[in-house]
Amino acid sequence: MRYISTRDKNRCADAPTVIKTGISPDGGLFVPESIPALGDGELYELISLDYRGRALKILQKYLTGYDVDELRLYVEKAYGTRFSSYPDIAPVVRLCDGLYSLELWHGPTCAFKDMALQLLPHLLTGALKKTGETRTAVILTATSGDTGKAALEGFRDVEGTKIVVYYPSEGVSSIQKLQMISQQGNNVAVCGIEGNFDDAQNGVKAIFTDPAMIKALSDRGFFLSSANSINWGRLAPQIVYYISAYCDLVKCGQLRLGDKVNFVVPTGNFGNILAGYYAARMGLPVHKLICASNRNNVLTDFIQSGRYDRNRPFYATASPSMDILVSSNLERMLFDVLNRDDNALKGLMDALKTEGRYRIGAGALRRLRGQFDAGFADEDATMAAISGVFTRYGYLCDTHTAVAFSVCDDYRQRTKDGTPAVVVSTASPYKFAKSVLSALSEAPVEGKDDFEIMDELSRVSRTRPPQALYSLKKSAPRFTHVCGRRQLGSFLLNFLG
Ligand SMILES: *Cc1c(COP(=O)(O)O)cnc(C)c1O
Repeated sequence: MRYISTRDKNRCADAPTVIKTGISPDGGLFVPESIPALGDGELYELISLDYRGRALKILQKYLTGYDVDELRLYVEKAYGTRFSSYPDIAPVVRLCDGLYSLELWHGPTCAFKDMALQLLPHLLTGALKKTGETRTAVILTATSGDTGKAALEGFRDVEGTKIVVYYPSEGVSSIQKLQMISQQGNNVAVCGIEGNFDDAQNGVKAIFTDPAMIKALSDRGFFLSSANSINWGRLAPQIVYYISAYCDLVKCGQLRLGDKVNFVVPTGNFGNILAGYYAARMGLPVHKLICASNRNNVLTDFIQSGRYDRNRPFYATASPSMDILVSSNLERMLFDVLNRDDNALKGLMDALKTEGRYRIGAGALRRLRGQFDAGFADEDATMAAISGVFTRYGYLCDTHTAVAFSVCDDYRQRTKDGTPAVVVSTASPYKFAKSVLSALSEAPVEGKDDFEIMDELSRVSRTRPPQALYSLKKSAPRFTHVCGRRQLGSFLLNFLG
């Protein structure tokens, strides 16, 4: 299995190189040269395996530069008892016949990023060994909330790595902040920034592009790396849970092997749903992938009209991990709908950069709509879905998942498509407890602290908060440092010693 760049098909690399470099030097993203097939017989064999067994079989097809024993070890490290759902890892919950929730939030940070970020560090350290790298990798991440914590948990105490996370000190929720500043591990550091997320991101970019800094680090035996969502090492692990969910539904008799399903995916950067697309291309019986957006509905418009236009207002919503106007992973899908024409793709990406918009032709749009449908939920619809799903099925979901339930409902009414639907659930409702509680109850939430709100949500819903969140109540802050926007580099050097 080789990988090629979306902006230059002649640029090839193997899986370890792709995972080590992240982005292609021409600015493109690496994609598999051809999508490996999953035959009916193979799918049948996966049904009797547990999540780890399924992961190993599927990852082996994509990560051919790693040997099987190595991958097995990584999969065991990633998908073990750090998941409260172990050995299920990504359980499928039945709401009624034909409607299911695929829960991706039983990992250490209670959100879906764990699915990839628990495995990526091992793939990365394996890649470093293979490519003869002897320096320590320093992962730098700017975060608006979920990614930072998931990266910290993933890289915590992983040999040959250190990780530094910067967050806007007033720009993340209080629970997200608590999660980060109490982080455990001997190779981690966390730093607040006086400023917003853009300031944090620009500060990190400045470090990456500062030759003096790169030299100073290299002299001390370090090099910089990132763990962002365009890295193939984050996408490959996500393909697994689509296939695993299908296997579970066959295993418990909700589907017959070969029956089609729809997946409804709450989408921001287009990484999660893209993994579903690769699963479908491998041969998983998927009818439609339904892209669910919040009020920032740039993808809904694109999938309906073929016109992508980021020139629009940005809204801060109750589903913040989907507040995105440029979905970086969409490029991989565009490459396919343009029949892998790298020049045409480069033209669109240039137009996006200079004008903030582009348009695809009728043929490409037809291919896109062959596999995808799309919809969005505004803030009222999101809140209504939380209470509607709870009232109808007794199922508690977070704000991101609620966007998907709302879009699923709209889609079924609009199309009359009765294909069984799996809603992809991306966060624990307790991670966004304030919004979830106010959707369910009239009780005032203002003035209450996070743990009082969790208690109240627990009472109203008769569910229990995940230990990983509730135990933060007793945690001691470790990283209280807040620095100015020009001091990210000195914080880093200070941490590395
Ligand atoms: C990151 C995230 C998403 C969006 O996933 P993409 O891969 O960026 O589309 C949705 N929900 C939650 C809770 C997330 O953390």
